[in-house]
Amino acid sequence: MAMPRANTTIVVVGGGGTMGSSTALHLIRSGYNPANITVLDVYPIPSSQSAGHDLNKIMSIRVRNKPDALLSLEALDMWNNDPLFKPYFHNTGVMYCSSSEQGIEGLRMARQSLIKAKSEMENTNIWLDNEAEIVAKMPAFAQEQVKGWKGVHSLDGGWLAAAKAINGIGEFLRDQRVNFRFGRAGTFARPLLSEDGRTCVGVQTVDGTDYYADKVVLATGAWSPTLVDLEGQCVSKAWVFAHIQLTPEEAAEYKNSPVIYDGEYGFFFEPNEDNIIKVCDEFPGFTRFISHRPFGSNESKSISVPRSHAQHPTDTYPDASEATIRKAIARFLPRFKDRQLLNRSMCWCADTADANLLICEHPRWKNFILATGDSGHSFKLLPNIGKHVVDLIEGTISHDLAYAWKWRPGGDALKSRRAAPAKDLADMPGWKHDRTNRL
Ligand code: FAD
Repeated sequence: MAMPRANTTIVVVGGGGTMGSSTALHLIRSGYNPANITVLDVYPIPSSQSAGHDLNKIMSIRVRNKPDALLSLEALDMWNNDPLFKPYFHNTGVMYCSSSEQGIEGLRMARQSLIKAKSEMENTNIWLDNEAEIVAKMPAFAQEQVKGWKGVHSLDGGWLAAAKAINGIGEFLRDQRVNFRFGRAGTFARPLLSEDGRTCVGVQTVDGTDYYADKVVLATGAWSPTLVDLEGQCVSKAWVFAHIQLTPEEAAEYKNSPVIYDGEYGFFFEPNEDNIIKVCDEFPGFTRFISHRPFGSNESKSISVPRSHAQHPTDTYPDASEATIRKAIARFLPRFKDRQLLNRSMCWCADTADANLLICEHPRWKNFILATGDSGHSFKLLPNIGKHVVDLIEGTISHDLAYAWKWRPGGDALKSRRAAPAKDLADMPGWKHDRTNRL
């Protein structure tokens, strides 16, 4: 029988990040007592080492499988209509483009899948067949720059003011008087288990504090596989970005432009209120394998362990990324190709083998719920993912979601569904600039 919501105590570990903050929000929206909810994180919400602590993220509809389609459509609806989230959604649209034969074929197929999933999306995902049609949607592009490009202009998306949106949840949680613990008192060390070792009864943080609870949700993103043994189901990987500063006059030309995305180069967003453009490249991610023993494992093993920019602010990204980010800028924003790059950073996510989330009860520890395995595409789910975590806690999650997100060792999370396995940072010079913290 489900526990009464008003009396159930819940600890959300990683509650300063994307899935954790969404879970805390939906617990309250579902009628749980804020006094019984404890949010733990290394950093105050919005946690500066969350993958969501960023200027912007893409909102777009994914239809790779049934859960993807359901979740992204549900998220879009909430970004459009939920008063908490609406202010952070910039419905500029997304322009997917390519000039390679394979890339263009990929665009056609992706558009067909959208239309198959929901026929109305034919009208909101417009095929751009030539340079003139592309420039019409993105006047800041010169016609000769987009020679041979084709594209899809998707009106169903745009960009999300990411860190601000998590902060919006944080303000709500603070108003509701949820319990917060950050720093050493918020940093998960291990689950507390019953005498027979089969039930989780709380967590201990690195300062030695014990937090007892009926349920524990572990939503620690790229750190999850380092904290508890996930049997290889998640591999932590870093992706990179850089910023360029524009003058107000330059920025005005890009105002309200769609997010531009080319899978062979990367993507960029319209400038923010400080005239800053964020540029990302596209590649299979970087790992950082070291010997490490997560809780629940009998021995140390080779695990990719994130190293956050928040804890190592002088870290940047590998020299190879400088080249690929510059290549993306030369492709999209050629007039700024020699401009200084700022805030060059790595940001960490957790890939699963099939790129589906890992949201389930840990099979060894009852009441210990995993909400992780974001696979680099889950910020867009900030408004709604927590609702499904609450459904899981209550045993009402839909069969399709429970099946897609179940505990499923096996498969190749190092490659996941990407073009190639991730390269390791040990083989990628240029990113590490402090002398005290060695790999
Ligand atoms: P996070 O948001 O990273 O949260 C994990 C939390 O756990 C953090 O707050 C961290 O501080 C906390 N934590 C870690 N260790 C501990 C501990 N020991 N104790 C307590 N707390 C701990 N997604 C999109 O939808 N659209 C995009 O355009 C997009 N672009 C991206 C671009 C880049 C460069 C990157 C890196 C990611 C991008 N993503 C995008 C992916 C998206 O950011 C992630 O999928 C999502 O933010 C992951 O959420 P999470 O809750 O799993 O992890």
